[in-house]
Amino acid sequence: MAEVTLENVKKIYGRNPEVLAVKDVSLHIQDREFFVFLGPSGCGKTTTLRMIAGLEEISGGTIYFDKKTVNDLTPQKRNVSMAFENYALYPTLSVWENIAFPLKIRKWNNDTIRKKMEWVAGALQIGDILHKKPFELSGGQQQRVSLARAIVREAEVFLFDEPLSHLDMKQRQLMRAEIKRINKDLQNTMIYVTHDQKEAMALADRIAVMNDGKLQQVGTPFEIYENPVNEFVAGFIGEPPMNFLNCQILRLNDFFELILKKQVIAKIHQSRLPNQELFPQFVRVGIRPKRIQITNSENKKDALQAAVIVYESIGEKGILKVQLLGEPIYLITEPNQKFSKGENIHLSFPIQYLFFFNPETGERINLK
Ligand code: ADP
Ligand code: MG
Repeated sequence: MAEVTLENVKKIYGRNPEVLAVKDVSLHIQDREFFVFLGPSGCGKTTTLRMIAGLEEISGGTIYFDKKTVNDLTPQKRNVSMAFENYALYPTLSVWENIAFPLKIRKWNNDTIRKKMEWVAGALQIGDILHKKPFELSGGQQQRVSLARAIVREAEVFLFDEPLSHLDMKQRQLMRAEIKRINKDLQNTMIYVTHDQKEAMALADRIAVMNDGKLQQVGTPFEIYENPVNEFVAGFIGEPPMNFLNCQILRLNDFFELILKKQVIAKIHQSRLPNQELFPQFVRVGIRPKRIQITNSENKKDALQAAVIVYESIGEKGILKVQLLGEPIYLITEPNQKFSKGENIHLSFPIQYLFFFNPETGERINLK
């Protein structure tokens, strides 16, 4: 069991040109935590994980396991166990041997190995393929075997790099639940990399969102969703994603009006602005699809007209795409509503659900 701390960790690949893959990342992963690195492809997740594992030299900063610096320790010395997207199974060994191999090397006795194998075969549902060779397995099965091989070991820290990427959606959902349960059973620190925000939200105790080599925010799934620190995080979490509108701000008496293409979409009382002088003249206004209200005909006066582009009912909810003053906007609706293409509807944007971002820096502007 271990805490993992990164202090200004940096990675530069190559020379001429240098690739600054990870930029001064500092964070603290607690003992037994399920910690997820989340971000788009190329943002530096794998590099960060490989530096924690000791597979990649770090170009700057310090990594600690508990209070011990591990910068110069090999992966073996760090006692980490890993499963990667590319499963790297031994082609000549059976599934059983592939999984048991690391245990045999560690001189575990046969009884312990058998018990552990039974447990892992059950947990990852691979009992019926233990005798097979890797080439006889589907991509998804290979990935489960690779995962099994990683978790049968006893390690200070378990590291997973997109370990479910080759599974189909249904299998992935099942495996997610399994991994969560395994984490509870093993009570070990787990660090997990994914580009899939749903997977991150489902698994993580806390998430570190990365973009372009930089740490954007660390928080619980709830904090990241409800309280994103910038436009990138706000837009990356949630499906369909948060809507963003470029608005101008005009003062009218005690209110600041948010203007989208000459129409007022909402009004903020001046007392809610943190610093009126510094509040920019233009803002990016964000609102989640589920927070936009479709108003009935009686209070159409303050509402904005939008035209339906496409409506999709997916059982438990509906997803509606509309055109509002030339901008495409997504809404989530009740499942039993019906909309047809071209139909005009009326929307309102409740002020308590609006997010504001500085259009230049992307930083969140909080209201009081
Ligand atoms: P992610 O896992 O988030 O997709 P990576 O950590 O693999 O991102 O990559 C981060 C950046 O570093 C990317 O720009 C990638 O092209 C670059 N990169 C990764 N590995 C190497 C390498 N061995 N040599 C040079 N550049 C690399
Ligand atoms: Mg990667």
